[in-house]
Amino acid sequence: MNRIGEILSGSLTGKQAEIRGWVYRIRSSGSLCFIVIRDSSGIVQTVASKESLGDMKIKELSGLTIESSLSVTGVVKEDKRSAGGYELQISDYRIFQRNDNYPITKDKGEEFLLDIRHLWLRSREMTSIMKIRSTVFRAFSDFFYNEGYYQTQGPMMVSTATEGGSTLFKLDFFGEEISLAQSSQFYLEVMMFALEKVFTIAPSFRAEKSRTRRHLTEYWHAEAEAAWYANEDMMRDEERMIEYIIREVLERNKEELLMLKRDLSKLENIRAPFPRMRYSELMQKMPEWGLGLKYGDDLGADEERAITVHFDKPVFVTHYPVAIKPTFYHREDPETPGELLCHDLLAPEGYGEIIGGGERIWNLKELKEKLKRYNLNPEDYYWYVDLRTYGSVPHSGFGLGLDRLIWWICGLDTIRDAIPFPRTIRRTRP
Ligand code: ATP
Ligand code: MG
Repeated sequence: MNRIGEILSGSLTGKQAEIRGWVYRIRSSGSLCFIVIRDSSGIVQTVASKESLGDMKIKELSGLTIESSLSVTGVVKEDKRSAGGYELQISDYRIFQRNDNYPITKDKGEEFLLDIRHLWLRSREMTSIMKIRSTVFRAFSDFFYNEGYYQTQGPMMVSTATEGGSTLFKLDFFGEEISLAQSSQFYLEVMMFALEKVFTIAPSFRAEKSRTRRHLTEYWHAEAEAAWYANEDMMRDEERMIEYIIREVLERNKEELLMLKRDLSKLENIRAPFPRMRYSELMQKMPEWGLGLKYGDDLGADEERAITVHFDKPVFVTHYPVAIKPTFYHREDPETPGELLCHDLLAPEGYGEIIGGGERIWNLKELKEKLKRYNLNPEDYYWYVDLRTYGSVPHSGFGLGLDRLIWWICGLDTIRDAIPFPRTIRRTRP
């Protein structure tokens, strides 16, 4: 058995090959039948002729419809006219399933394609995105293993909120109300005291009630924590990680990026170091960019889009004012009180935030004050408090939305296409 990719690489030219896959396109002239077949490695044109197969067989093949499954055998020839440059001349075949009709035809709307996602995932566009996604997941892990981090896991059923109550998914746990994890951060902080440098890839759940281009209710969260790291140390690992992932995608998935019509020069340009801007510096730029933001305003998706069109690399925005971050765990900068030792990484071309991170409060007194200020009960966070009671150390971490990263790398319109089975406010099927 051969793969279509082997044919496309030229190594089977002039030889007999057997491939199996699905009908991608078919047209017939009565005496000739052209079937473009796809497998996971590509598409190739095959041709059957009445002359060599006879009347019955050519009729049977001509009656096939899109996505029917089959295997074919025959000699491979170079053929400049067919897409990909090769053609297989069918001498024998086997049909596994003949379809009556395939529900996806041209010009279907977005909602229909989401309803029929289980079939739409076979499209060349989705297949390309999923191959890139696979590379991104691997590259993230490889990068952190190479940096001496350990991979670990936190629970998804939890009783402490990390990101504030408004996006919590509540869950009945044998009569007790708990929730789904919004982040694995606090558990990574626990593991950090044993392993010093840790990362995880896990789903995070957020009850995002509005429909945006960049929010899912279940997304894949790649997070890391490192002992002894200051905010700037963490940012240095992150920018090298982003550069590494993009290099890997460019190396392994050029064909897929081109299929998605991605401008490769935009990605080739992504090299560390990335620019850094304090939130206060950013606000001073606003008049120049014709934006009406002022110190103390939060940056939402629209604001980030307007800001990041001015950059051709990702940009770190640091030192957000305490008042606009809804989370309690960031450490305040002792040199500029009222500002946090934290950062967001905003992707260029209008994509916006892909990472949120920073230095964590590690002093017990500071943590207790913050919990109080955010009306949180220290009892609920007893184990998080213990980390600051016993052998606390300075440390930093971050969370990267992998689906958001893929959304940007692929240059997609909506994040929903970056994940196989998107979950949004009104979608839990398929
Ligand atoms: P946003 O302001 O866009 O809602 P956030 O500040 O809530 O993001 P964090 O809590 O810092 O995000 O989470 C870390 C990372 O997780 C984000 O930078 C983003 O990449 C990703 N992320 C957060 N919420 C979502 C979501 N609903 N869908 C997909 N990715 C998300
Ligand atoms: Mg959010």
